[in-house]
Amino acid sequence: MTRSAYRVLLYYKYVPIDDPESFADIHLAMCKEIGLLGRILVAHEGINGTVSGTVEQTDQYMDMLRSDSRFSDIVFKIDEAEGHAFKKMHVRSRPELVNSQLDETIDPIKKTGTYLEPKDFKKAMEDEDVLIIDARNDYEFDIGHFKNAIRPDIKTFRELPEWIRTNLADQKDKKVLTYCTGGIRCEKFSGYLLDEGFSDVNQLHGGIVTYGKDEEVQGELYEGKCFVFDERMAVPVNQKSDKVVGKCYYCGKPEDRYVNCANPECNRLHVCCDECEESYRRSCSDECRSHGRNRYKSPREQEEAI
Ligand SMILES: [Zn+2]
Ligand SMILES: [Zn+2]
Repeated sequence: MTRSAYRVLLYYKYVPIDDPESFADIHLAMCKEIGLLGRILVAHEGINGTVSGTVEQTDQYMDMLRSDSRFSDIVFKIDEAEGHAFKKMHVRSRPELVNSQLDETIDPIKKTGTYLEPKDFKKAMEDEDVLIIDARNDYEFDIGHFKNAIRPDIKTFRELPEWIRTNLADQKDKKVLTYCTGGIRCEKFSGYLLDEGFSDVNQLHGGIVTYGKDEEVQGELYEGKCFVFDERMAVPVNQKSDKVVGKCYYCGKPEDRYVNCANPECNRLHVCCDECEESYRRSCSDECRSHGRNRYKSPREQEEAI
């Protein structure tokens, strides 16, 4: 097997950072010097990032971050890639690492659910009397999730606490299993569930991405793909099955490819098959299709333009 020339790193750590603004400025300069591309958030509560670069660049970055004692034990999830997964390099200082609006009450360093490693998480899922809660947004769930997982009807993580209060308040004595992409959302979400009175709260350590790479479980019981917030849009998880769980927005056929609406003022993310992309001009409505700035070009139109 040939080694890929590029990698995508996914990582986070909850650890106090005194001055996130100046940390972000210095960190951005270092990332640019290395030649990385990606998106990193820095807050008083820690760091959360996804970056892409060559093998050498990503090695250099991991060494640089680990040389800071605050991050000496940070865990990097490493994906091989064909090229960069981003177009730009951003490091931004934010009030929170994930926008939960739970910051004042929930501190994962002090309170969080029990971490389960992939093989223990899989074993717990096989027990029928558990609540498997997907801590991600509806559009992430729709192209892939764990078998029998509950799909919260939410567009952003901020809406999750309220959804739980409305829909699961009567199930607090059940064993809860939560998961998200890389684990960071569950750090706070599981602490929130404990605060709400759920008695047995567990989270998938390292998230779906780690589960898919685990040599023992090999992604089993995960169906479909994992949505990622970079140009790859989705990555495979289950090494034994390539079941497609998403559906084309137009024709309903099995499909797990996300596209953005071709109307630049809409940009709506939707699942779309190849045929429908052309016949509907990648537009989510009649209005978007006839929009003056619609940027869709069919393969034939692209050829004519050359
Ligand atoms: Zn279709
Ligand atoms: Zn649209």
